[in-house]
Amino acid sequence: MVERCKLNARRLAIVLGLALVAAAAARGGDDPIFERMKKDIFFLASPECEGRGIDTAGINKAAAYIANELKLAGLKPAGKDGTWFQPFTVNIGNAKVSDASTMALTGPDGKISKLEFDKDFKVQPFSSAAKVTAPVIFAGYGLTVPSIKYDDFKDLDVAGKIVVVLRRVPRWTAGDAKNQFAGDREAHAGIEAKIGNCEAHKAAGVIFVNDATEDSKGDPMASFPDGVAGAGIPVVQMKRAQLEAMFAVGKKTTLAEMEKGIDDDLKPRSGPLTGWTATLDTVVSRPSYACKNIIGVLEGSGPLANETVVVGAHYDHLGFGLFGSLGGPKAKNQIHPGADDNGSGTTSVMELARRFGSMKDRQGRRLVFMLFSGEERGLLGSAYYCNKEPLFPLESTMAMVNLDMVGRLNDTTRKLKADGVGSAKEWDALVDRLNADLGFDIEKSAMGLMDRSDLASFYRKGVPCIFFWTGFHDDYHRPTDTADKINIPGMMKVVSLTERVLAHLATEPKRYQHIVMVPKKGAPKSGPAGPRLGIGPNYNDDANNKGVLIEFVTKDGPAAKGGVKEGDRIIAIAGKATPNLNAYMSVMSQQKADSPLEVTVSRGEKELKLTVTPQ
Ligand SMILES: [Zn+2]
Repeated sequence: MVERCKLNARRLAIVLGLALVAAAAARGGDDPIFERMKKDIFFLASPECEGRGIDTAGINKAAAYIANELKLAGLKPAGKDGTWFQPFTVNIGNAKVSDASTMALTGPDGKISKLEFDKDFKVQPFSSAAKVTAPVIFAGYGLTVPSIKYDDFKDLDVAGKIVVVLRRVPRWTAGDAKNQFAGDREAHAGIEAKIGNCEAHKAAGVIFVNDATEDSKGDPMASFPDGVAGAGIPVVQMKRAQLEAMFAVGKKTTLAEMEKGIDDDLKPRSGPLTGWTATLDTVVSRPSYACKNIIGVLEGSGPLANETVVVGAHYDHLGFGLFGSLGGPKAKNQIHPGADDNGSGTTSVMELARRFGSMKDRQGRRLVFMLFSGEERGLLGSAYYCNKEPLFPLESTMAMVNLDMVGRLNDTTRKLKADGVGSAKEWDALVDRLNADLGFDIEKSAMGLMDRSDLASFYRKGVPCIFFWTGFHDDYHRPTDTADKINIPGMMKVVSLTERVLAHLATEPKRYQHIVMVPKKGAPKSGPAGPRLGIGPNYNDDANNKGVLIEFVTKDGPAAKGGVKEGDRIIAIAGKATPNLNAYMSVMSQQKADSPLEVTVSRGEKELKLTVTPQ
């Protein structure tokens, strides 16, 4: 899961048989199903697979293993050109910063001082590769917060300039009562939002400097993951002492006095550092990765044979934890085995392939088994399949069943989550009926966390979806998500329930009707601050493209009503530039629900100004 789916008498007999087998496995390890699922998950989570990061060689070993198991199960390859694989490229690679990067400051007296790499300045992984020389301007904390009328950019023209911003927010250590940024304090302090705000104001580069709270810790250089989203401009961190020196020459106050002043009255003190220019030469590369989904098919038979049912799970994980790890600095460069996330779902889909693959004269819809890559970077594999290359038509896809993190069933509570049941009216009753003798305590959610796994890509294309999982745990996205902690009999039970669901979906004569779900007004939201336009951005866009590429527009949502179309690029909102996602999110966080906005999009050669009322 990324850090942010009617049995006739004969089938019922088969399923009951499997349930009994699962119970036997709970008692001992001599069951062949237990043994093969154990073998699968231990392999997927082994050091050989290197945590299945898209930036590892190990993921290709996992892919070869999975494809071979699908073949042994009797499936036909259903990827590109008769292979098991559907290749796609991930463009948002880990930033590699070269020590050939340079930074120099030119003072009002014309004197040039060269700063030392990784000592006086650090090129942060947000940085683009660029060479810029421009005047330096100070923009306080880099914040625009209309709800409390605080704007470091008020009456400040930073276009084409290199902007110096402080980390965090004013009154960072003050109690909630005094800290007007409390509540959203962390969101406003986010460095990505600040960089985005600078880009929205057309800055040429960003220099950030620790706030006063870091001063006592020796003004350390900040450490961000290498896999963060890249900005369209260079981004470096500089030592406070350097800014102090610039203040001493360019302004009539000290940095500390300036910060204290803003803390006291919450009045921004932005302005040019007169006479100062900076030259940034950031040498940064972002590799792209060749990824592949794995797809196998069991063709159907009879009148429903031309329709499709998909069962899917992502097989990628975090590799060595350079991106997406929750384990902190200690976890960096350690293998993140991802046994539960999502060795468990992958193992379960392989087992389902074996069960359906061994059935003779199966009737009904075709069953397509998909193992996605790029999930941990933002559902990229499933998005590629759904938006770019649906190898089986989505219009005739009855449903998608997603398994992601199904290996941690608690035998006492027997809780199983079923998210996305709001996507078709039939799910609710179906799940209850099929679970009756399995005994899960099923916690159903209309949406739940469906937007954090691959079913979301199918849901957005109008396919009814359901997502089974056994919940979060302390090992989530950490090196401790190991195979020995997997409840294999529990996973076998999830497979049994999923098998029943798939058997039903394959044979049910009546297609499910996809339901568009709209989050309730005022309901707690996950994700970025601010109102919503009802669009989904492309998270895999080439960083050199300008504007936010729209991957999907929510049906009947605000953007759809305003005339925004899939494939448009949003280049400005309310007159502020949105060259990339950071800038887009920063600008949207400053907007109010229910007030109409001018949204500028580029569509082919044309530029259009549309009016959208966000919610
Ligand atoms: Zn995950």
